[in-house]
This record gives sequence, C-alpha cells and structure tokens, in this order.
Amino acid sequence: MDDVAEPVPGPADAIIDIAACGICGTDLTFIARGGFRDGDTAPMRIGHEAVGRIRSVGSDVAGLTPGMRVILNPQTAGSVIGNGGPEGAFTDRLLFREAIAGKTLYPIGHDIPDALAALAEPLAVSLHSVNRADPKPHETVVLFGAGPIGLGIVLWLHRRGVARLIVVDQNPKRLEWAKSLGATDVVVAGADRDLLADLRAICGGGEIFGMPVVDVDCFIDAAGAPPIVPQVVAMAKTGARLVIPASYKKPVTIDLRRLLMSEMTITTAMGYPTEFAEVIATLPELTREADLLISHSYDFADFFDALAVAQSGDCAKVMVTFPS
Ligand SMILES: [Zn+2]
Repeated sequence: MDDVAEPVPGPADAIIDIAACGICGTDLTFIARGGFRDGDTAPMRIGHEAVGRIRSVGSDVAGLTPGMRVILNPQTAGSVIGNGGPEGAFTDRLLFREAIAGKTLYPIGHDIPDALAALAEPLAVSLHSVNRADPKPHETVVLFGAGPIGLGIVLWLHRRGVARLIVVDQNPKRLEWAKSLGATDVVVAGADRDLLADLRAICGGGEIFGMPVVDVDCFIDAAGAPPIVPQVVAMAKTGARLVIPASYKKPVTIDLRRLLMSEMTITTAMGYPTEFAEVIATLPELTREADLLISHSYDFADFFDALAVAQSGDCAKVMVTFPS
C-alpha cells in the first residue's frame, strides 16, 4: 500500500471517489505472478470491480457531473483499470481516463447499493460465459468451479431456466452457495473421487465406440484445474460443448482422437464484449443474489485482511468498501 500524489484529470478524464471494489481472482493471479506478466517486478496497481462517486471531470467530459454514482467498465476504460495500466481501483481517489457516459462509466441510481453495483464487472464475465455456452432450457449443464465467477454463472443459468445444472467444486461451502443460487445438483470434487461415475449417477450416460460418456450437453470450466479439460474430453457425448472462461497457468494436453469421436466443441469466454449494460440494467433484481455472492466485506483500512480471505479460497466474493 503506497501513498501517491493527488491525481489530476486531463480534459477527457474524471476523478472518482471509490465506494466499493471487489477482490477478483485476477488480482490474486497478478499478486502471485508479481505483476501483469510472469516475472514482472515493477509495482502494479490492481482493483477493477469498482463503483464510486464522481468528484470532478475534465473540460471535455459530457453527461457526467460531480456527485453522480458510476460503475466503472475497466475493459473500455482509457487505461484498462487494474489490468496492467497505470491506474487501479484499490484507492480512495482514482484517475479515470476517457470518462464517457454509457461506455466507460455507467451512471446508476441511489437504489443500487455500492456492494451490488461493484458486482457488475464479475457478473458480466459470468454472463459472457453463459452467452458463449448458449444453453437451452431442456439441456443439462455441468459447471466446474463455484468461486465468484462460477457462482455468477449459476445465477445466470438459473435465470435462463436451465433444467439441470450440476456444479462441481472441492469446497462444500461453495457448493452450498451454488445450491442457494439455483444449482440442482452438486458434486464434491477430489483426487479420490470418480467424476465420471458421480455424473453418470446423476444424469445417466451411454457409450461412444465402447467408451462411457455422460448425458451432459454443455460443460463450463470456471475452475481452471489441470485435470478438468482432459476429463471432459474423455466423457463427452456426441456433440457436447465445453466453454472455458478459466485462466490456465500452463498448457494442457488433450486426446484429439477422443475429441474426433465425439465431435464436441471447445471454446473460451473472455471478458464481456457486449454484456456490461445488460448486467447493470438487471442489478435491481439481484439484491438477494448479491447477499449470497458476497461472503465477506472489509473496510479499505483492513485491505490485507480482505486479501488474506480471498487468497484462502474459503469465500465467495470478498468486497472492499471505502468510508465516504
Ligand atoms: Zn474481475
């Protein structure tokens, strides 16, 4: 935690008093790596899941005025807030470059609490994963990983009316949260477990060329654990889909011969190219879900306690709030 000079906005910029900012798995990855890329050693400013109040704007900024509450879109921001640019939102006062209403900053009403508003960014990541998976209501979906992004995926799949949603995670507490958000079945993962047998017990299966498969239409990997993709390839039925929003640290080997037999589709989901506005419009309907998604909340003065909880993994979203 460093003291920095008071930020000064350029003509297109805004200064924002941050009100809340969630800790993201990406933040933990940056910390573990030492920076944006492996081997980086220079200080890097983190924090990108933020809401705040506009303190001042540059002379060219239109439609945004001091006092407005705004949700930050780090992906469209002028300096990709907290993702390798010169600014990060774990600060009480942020220089926000290229302040554009409805594109980089989204004004919100006072009916949306700070913590709920700060969920917009991770919920947009989750929604993009669901859009890439494009599940139909009659389909069976298996989701790996019930961390904050996975739990958001459960929320959106439930709202889409997916009939059967099986969530796989090692942490029983996270699986309880997934059930509260709409998972129909849960499976505790572990080295001593037989995932194929556990899934076949829930949703049945068949065979391809004498090899056992599960009757699952779509898999989503929000966990990023090395065994998952090879396991999915080995159990996929004909025409199954796998969407991967998880960020893998190392290459993974898969059996292309097995992939050939199932004609399954594997794709990825990155960020939220089109989802941000839809998520913000839906926020007023998500107060119950926000209470489930935010497992811990800390004042900015206790940032390192918040970070320790997030790093423990025994949590859903860890929220950092700033005194007004
Ligand atoms: Zn994030």
